[in-house]
Amino acid sequence: MTRRISRQLRIGKLTVGGDAPIVVQSMTKTDTHDIPATINQIKELEDCGCEIVRVAVPDKEAAGSLATIKKSVSLPIIADIHFDYRLALGALKAGVDGLRLNPGNIGDKEQVARVVAAAKEREVPIRIGVNAGSLPASFQPKTPLAKRMVSMALEQIRLMESLDFDLIKVSLKAFDVPTTIRAYQMIADKMPYPLHLGVTEAGLPRTGAVRSAIGIGVLLYQGIGDTIRVSLSAHPCEEVFVAYEILKSLGLRQRGPTLVSCPSCGRAEVDIIALAEAVSKRLEKIARPVKVAVMGCVVNGPSEAKDADVGLACGKGKGAIFRKGKVVGTVGKERFLEAIMTEIDKTA
Ligand code: SF4
Repeated sequence: MTRRISRQLRIGKLTVGGDAPIVVQSMTKTDTHDIPATINQIKELEDCGCEIVRVAVPDKEAAGSLATIKKSVSLPIIADIHFDYRLALGALKAGVDGLRLNPGNIGDKEQVARVVAAAKEREVPIRIGVNAGSLPASFQPKTPLAKRMVSMALEQIRLMESLDFDLIKVSLKAFDVPTTIRAYQMIADKMPYPLHLGVTEAGLPRTGAVRSAIGIGVLLYQGIGDTIRVSLSAHPCEEVFVAYEILKSLGLRQRGPTLVSCPSCGRAEVDIIALAEAVSKRLEKIARPVKVAVMGCVVNGPSEAKDADVGLACGKGKGAIFRKGKVVGTVGKERFLEAIMTEIDKTA
C-alpha cells in the first residue's frame, strides 16, 4: 500500500495529510441552536475517538452558537456551510478550525472570494465538499457523474488558488459506491491537496457500514485518503466505531480491542455466538489495542488463539486459554468469559 502524499495542513491542533495518520471525523446530529446538547455530543464524540467534528450551520443563529460551542470543547470544529456564504463569515468570526463549503450551492465567485479572504486572514482551511446530490443540473449535464464532481471540485480549487489560497481539502461524496471511488481516483493525481473520504447518506448501521467499508476501504487500500467520515443514520459514535474498524482492518490505525471470533458451525463445542457477544460487550470498556480470539473448536482455534494477545480454543466442555501465543490454562465452559477477561487484564 503506497500512500498518495498530499500537502499537509493544520486543522486546529491536528495535522492532516502528508504522512500524518488518517484522521477520523464525524458530525454532530443535534440542533446547533441547542448549545448544551451540541457540546455534550461533541464531548461524547471525543470520548469515543472522534478527532475532528463537523457542525451544521443552517442559519445566522446557529453560526452565533459556534463561539460558545468552540470555547467549551477541545475537538477541532468544522462549520458545515451551504447556500449562504455569510454563514461561513460568521463561523470564521466564531473561531472555527475549518470550513466545509459546498460548491454545488455556493458558486458565486465574489462570495467565495470573500470567504477565502476571511479564511486566509485566520489561516483556516476550507474543505471543498462536492456532493453528488447537490450538483446543479445545469453543470456539464452530459458528462458522467464522477467526472462532473471532479470538474466542479477542480473549478473551485482553481478559483481558490487564483486568490492565493491553498489551505484546501477536498471531498467528492456520492451514495453510489463505484461513482465515489471513481471520482476520488480521478482527482487524486490532478491536485496536491488532502482528500476527505466518505460515501454519503450510506444508510442504517448494517448496510451503511458495508457501503462505507467498501468505498472508503478500496480507496485507502490504493493509498488515497487523509481523513474519513462514515455517514450513518445512527448516533455519531457508531460512525466513529465503523471508521476505526475500517482503518484497523487495513492496518492503518490501531484503537481499542480487536475481536477475532469464528462464525461457528456444526463442529462448535460451545455457543460461540453468545460467547463472542459477551466478550465484545466486556471489551467495550477497554480503550487500549488488544487482540482477542474466541474460537469454537480445534480446527482453526489453536492457531488463531495463539496469534492473538488472548485466545480461547474450545474443546468438548472445556477450552485452552492462550496469552501471547502460549497456553496458560484449560478451563470449563462455564468459566470461559471470566478466564478470557482475566488474561486480558494481565496484558495491560
Ligand atoms: Fe466451525 Fe471450528 Fe471453524 Fe468455529 S473454528 S467455524 S466451530 S470449524
